[in-house]
Amino acid sequence: MAMDTTGLAAALSTERRLLHAHAESGFTEFWTASHVAKALHDAGWEVKIGKDIMNKDFMMGLPAPGVLAKCRDRALAEGADPAFVARMGGGFTAVAGVMSNGPGPVNAFRFDMDAVDVQESGDPEHFPAREGFVSVHDGAMHACGHDGHTSIGLALARMLAGNKDAWSGTIKLVFQPAEEGVRGARSISESGFLDDVDNVVAGHLGILPDGTDRFHCGVGDFLATSKLDFHFQGVSSHAGMSPEKGRSALLAAAATAVHLSGIARHGGGATRINVGRMEAGTGRNVVPEKGLLVIETRGADSALNAYVEEESIRIAEGQAHAYGVNLRVERAGGALSSVSDPGLMELAAACATEAGYGRISHDALPLGGSEDFSYMMERVRGNGGKALYVVFGSDLAGPHHNGRFDFREADLVKPVLTLFNMAGRLSDR
Ligand SMILES: [Zn+2]
Ligand SMILES: [Zn+2]
Repeated sequence: MAMDTTGLAAALSTERRLLHAHAESGFTEFWTASHVAKALHDAGWEVKIGKDIMNKDFMMGLPAPGVLAKCRDRALAEGADPAFVARMGGGFTAVAGVMSNGPGPVNAFRFDMDAVDVQESGDPEHFPAREGFVSVHDGAMHACGHDGHTSIGLALARMLAGNKDAWSGTIKLVFQPAEEGVRGARSISESGFLDDVDNVVAGHLGILPDGTDRFHCGVGDFLATSKLDFHFQGVSSHAGMSPEKGRSALLAAAATAVHLSGIARHGGGATRINVGRMEAGTGRNVVPEKGLLVIETRGADSALNAYVEEESIRIAEGQAHAYGVNLRVERAGGALSSVSDPGLMELAAACATEAGYGRISHDALPLGGSEDFSYMMERVRGNGGKALYVVFGSDLAGPHHNGRFDFREADLVKPVLTLFNMAGRLSDR
């Protein structure tokens, strides 16, 4: 089928710049999600929002209610659709489009929408600054390319709706909040929205600096990870008059931080543990009542990560007991490990070649990071379906999560064509 890729490229660039300028971090994507909902609706998709497709018990690392309300009001002031935003209060910013087109399988594609908490460069050498579409929100920037992902998803939505002879079955396009910090995907998978899905596919732009024209057809070596906050609650007292009446949460936190690095390595594979932040105490002459440790664990697979997580909680509980304080463990994020289906990898390689990619890689990419799409992959796989994660290459102006990050806008075209081809080929599988 003949595609007008000039028009497609122009539309992708325009939409990407709009999204880039309105960068919103995890669970505050009110403007972005409203834009997505409207675009899906206008293209003829049935639109699902927030609680339709999110389980509130599995939203991790949700910002404080005041922050959420402020960001919601900001989005409304910037022209977000009030009817859509009304359904997103409290951070329920996931959006999905559903379209049925005769008998066939249910295929899902996932796109993440959130920005990174980093200040965007205003240097005229930085393409978005030069072209006048830097983030209007201080401290939030699309420094991971999710503006590109969202614009790819919306272009795909329009293309699928306009070419229904090219595919059949049901398609679910999932626009996910809060991928950064691996916080948002689990709430969608635990909602059951993907339980009838036969194939689920997601991709990421960039990753490798010299990526233009390169397509990786299956990445599955994500590290499983848990983001945990240990809240120690002690008893404050006068450090001179009655120290024996106090219970120091600071000592419990500090002892835990030291002992966590003593977790034995595992013979089954790589593990990681990091204490990223410690906060404790109020004043020089007060026995500290509160202590906080912000930690993360990782493992080459989900079982290895579970081992480090269980050990870390056991150690924290032990130190809480030793110092006579209480411990509350809060889950601030998490991701599993997962694997891409070899058959879907082959299919993706063929679709990417057809879309014009010149360099197709089958080898696992050394990602070294984590992706909470793994929750969706494992949910679909658990129900007998198949899952795939790919990388759409692009030359990058700076590293991911850096204030000078940027991808080539021209590299947004092939991902749309690849996914469109996949939707067609997956129709009869
Ligand atoms: Zn990122
Ligand atoms: Zn990312």
